[in-house]
Parts: sequence; C-alpha cells; structure tokens
Amino acid sequence: MAAIERRTTELTAPSSWEYAAAPESRDIVSFDDRYGLFIGGRDVSPRSRSWFTTVSPSSEEPLAEVSQAGPTDVGLAVDAARTAFASWSRIRPSERAKVLFRIARVLQERSRELAVAESLDGGKPIKESRDVDLPLAAAHFFYYAGWADKLEYAFPGRRPRPLGVAAQIVPWNFPLLMLAWKIAPALACGNTVVLKPAETTPLTALLFADVCRQAEVPPGVVNIVTGDGSTGAHLVRHPGIDKVAFTGSTEVGKAIQRELAGRGVSLTLELGGKAANVVFEDCALDQAVEGIVNGIYFNQGHVCCAGSRLLVQESIHDQLVRKLKRRMATLRVGDPLDKNTDVGAINSRAQLDRITELVAIGQEEGAELYQPPCRLPEKGWWFVPTVFTNVAQSHRIAREEIFGPVLSVLTFRTPAEAVEKANNTMYGLSAGVWTEKGSRLLWMAERLRAGVVWGNTFNRFDPASPFGGYKESGFGREGGRHGLEPYLRFE
Ligand code: NAP
Ligand code: MG
Repeated sequence: MAAIERRTTELTAPSSWEYAAAPESRDIVSFDDRYGLFIGGRDVSPRSRSWFTTVSPSSEEPLAEVSQAGPTDVGLAVDAARTAFASWSRIRPSERAKVLFRIARVLQERSRELAVAESLDGGKPIKESRDVDLPLAAAHFFYYAGWADKLEYAFPGRRPRPLGVAAQIVPWNFPLLMLAWKIAPALACGNTVVLKPAETTPLTALLFADVCRQAEVPPGVVNIVTGDGSTGAHLVRHPGIDKVAFTGSTEVGKAIQRELAGRGVSLTLELGGKAANVVFEDCALDQAVEGIVNGIYFNQGHVCCAGSRLLVQESIHDQLVRKLKRRMATLRVGDPLDKNTDVGAINSRAQLDRITELVAIGQEEGAELYQPPCRLPEKGWWFVPTVFTNVAQSHRIAREEIFGPVLSVLTFRTPAEAVEKANNTMYGLSAGVWTEKGSRLLWMAERLRAGVVWGNTFNRFDPASPFGGYKESGFGREGGRHGLEPYLRFE
C-alpha cells in the first residue's frame, strides 16, 4: 500500500531533473565578417553599398554583416538567372538530376555545420535543426532529384516545360528548409532561381551558396539576394521574372498578389495558419498530450501550421489540461545550442513584442493564463511556453496567428461541433485529429477545410507529401508530385 501511495505522489509531482549543460560546439561553423550577394556563381559586392548585421537571438551577439540588395542588385541577379536558363533548361534532365543529388549529398555531409548555423542565426534548438530541418532539407533535394528526368511520367501526355526565372521569397522560421522546398522543385523542372531569405536569418542561405559551388551547380542557376522586405518587393516588381513562390505572412502575400495582377507571372502563396488540433475523448491521452506539445511548442511556435487552437471534447477537458500543464513544466527553455533544450529563443525583438502584446490581450479578454515556472536567460529574446484556458472563439488569441509558444484551449461536445469550430477561421493550412476510431478520423478529415490533416500525430513532414493551404493560408502545393506543377507550363 505504501509503495502504491509513493508511486501516486511521484506521478502527480514529477521530480525535476537538473541537466548538466550539453552544448554543441559552435567551432564547426565559421562566418565571414561580411557577405556579398551570390550572383552568377560569384560572391558579388552589392551596388547598393549597404550592409546590415544579423544577430543571434539567443545572445544578441552580431554574427556577420550581410548585403542589403537594392534594385540594381536584384536586376543583376535576375539577368544572371535569365542567362543561365538558356542552357539549364536544355541540358539532359538526367544531368539536372545529378546536380540535385550532389546538393543533397553535400547538405548531408555539412549537416552539422548548417544545423549549428541555423540555430545560431535563428534561435531554434539544435535538436530540431539537427534532426528535422537538415534531414528534411536534404530529403527534399533527393526527392526532386528523382523527378528531374521523369516529368513526362508525372504528367502523362502533357509535355511539361519549365517556366523560366523563379523569384522565391522565404521567411525566418525554417530558413534552410523553406529554401529547399523552393529551390529543389524549381531546379528539377528546369527553372533557374533568385531567392531572398528573411532579414533575420540570411546565413544558411549564404552557406548554401557555397554548397552550390561545391556541388558544381552551373553559375546563375541559383542566385541569392539578401536584404529586408524592400529587396523582396524589388524582386517581385522586376519585369524579368516568370514565377513568384512566396512563403510568409498573409498581409505580404496579398500585396504580392496585387503587384502581380495582370502581369502573367505565375504565383504560389504559402501563408499563415491558425490550426485546430482536435482531441476526442476516446483518444490515447498521453500520446495526444505529446502531440499537442509538439504541435505548439516545436520551433517556439514559429510554425505556420502550428496546432495553436486546441479543441478538446468537454468530457476530458480537465484531465487533459492537468496532464498538459504537468508536461509543460518539464520543457527546458534556453540556449539553442544545448542538446537538452526543447524551446529556444524567439526569432526577433519584433516577434517577441507581438507575442507579448497578444498574450496581454488574451488576459484582458478574460482567458485564463498558465505558464510553468521557468528561468529565462538574461540576454536574448525569450517567451515562456504558455497555455490559455477558458478561451472563446471570439477572442483574438483564438483568431489571430500569434506565431509563438502560446496555445488556446477551447471545448466541443459533438463531432459536428468540432468541425464547425475547427473551420471557423480565415485560415486553412493544417489540422490534427486525435481518436482511436479510424472511421471518425476519416469523417473529420473529409470535413476539415485544411490542406493537411494529421491523424494521431502532428507536424509530420515528408517530401513526397504535398503541403499548402485553403482560404487565407494561400494556394498552390509544395512537396510531392503536386509540388512540380507550379514550376511548369504545358504545351
Ligand atoms: P513576412 O513579413 O511576410 O516575410 C516573409 C518574407 O517576405 C521575408 O523574406 C520578408 O523579408 C519578405 N517580405 C517582406 N515584405 C515584403 C514585400 N513587400 N514584398 C516582398 N517580400 C517581402 O513574414 P514573416 O513575418 O517573416 O513570417 C511569418 C509569417 O510567415 C507567418 O504569418 C507564417 O504563418 C508565415 N509562414 C507560412 C508558411 C507556409 O508554409 N504557409 C511557412 C512559414 C511561415 P524580411 O524578412 O526582410 O522582412
Ligand atoms: Mg539572425
């Protein structure tokens, strides 16, 4: 009896471990003091004669100076891509495949260096950059290398042809992975690219320029122009582009769509989300708790498809929230380069301000806030993993994308109510369903207006699986055979 009692106390109050620091060595990566632009296969000093500093969000330490590309620089990059297109689009597709395979292999070989760079520049935990971002980035190049000489089989009887020069703009939450999602299918289809990384996370794209040299990518096939939003705007405005692929906020996506109206430039948009993670009373509860934690605290919640709205069946609400809070207390927040870290730094001061503001609004609106006890580092930008209960659908924290480690919990009684609440959003990127009943899972998946619906899991990615949105989450798909189509025209 005494033994049982003791076990019960242990279960309700987990003993907290003191972890010794286990830092990944940062010596594996060295940054130049100052970077030029990657144009025509060369490191080119910007004509704008202007640079900015990229910092590490976990220490605020400057890492390198990066070029702020102006309109002339963007023009040179588009010209280089145009020149390279003439030969790249005509070489044997199997030769293009070889180039993509080489990129994939070099990414694998340099994965530790690139993972450390990603965590330093963007703040994400090394265990995520090492085990998720890098393997998936390499997998994307492997996957699309396989398609390069089989496009006729992907679109039987349709004679696929490349579009030309693709302008590609990516955000700061998965810098190298989003680069891979953009560049791999574009090149496999015979296009050339000009890519603009986000202002706060340009370094892995600049290291990727070196990967291209190593993999003998012909000059001008891949061009990288760094800068802020204005560089992206110059690129979109340039008359020499044939396609824009954008991942980022809905607001900027709409501006790009307006800019391209009537120009005959093909467009795909991957925008924001406010995904419902729907938990039924018959689910495997402990697994669901892991899925909820992964759904919202992975990458500090800087995830467009994050499960930021938890819809729980009313009958298990109290039990689930108890388990969730207990699990949250074990999350380790801190140094992104420490292998024990679960939640790293917030990407920028601006993003931290936005999260802080929305959380304050959640409290004002009457939702109940919980944050586990947590010691945050003194320097850098941090936010404690947060959950709000007693959330109403009208609350701003239930409607707006927070893009941080903040979960809102709502309840439902019947499957029909769950569908209605899950779809009650302007977004439609992803959703999760937790139930032991297969037929219910399929019933839900049929009704949820989301590009991806995960069953008894969350945030799973595979290069063979298409990803993209409905409604204000954008249009077009990345990944899989679907991901080839936006980079092709058909004769
Ligand atoms: P953002 O402000 O839209 O920025 C995305 C990219 O666009 C950055 O490279 C940005 O440059 C650039 N940009 C800014 N203004 C521009 C303009 N007028 N014309 C052309 N380019 C411009 O978004 P963010 O704050 O970086 O990223 C967070 C958002 O991205 C969230 O809403 C999230 O949901 C979404 N997201 C969606 C997906 C998806 O797959 N659907 C994936 C990741 C993120 P600067 O960085 O220099 O401003
Ligand atoms: Mg940075």
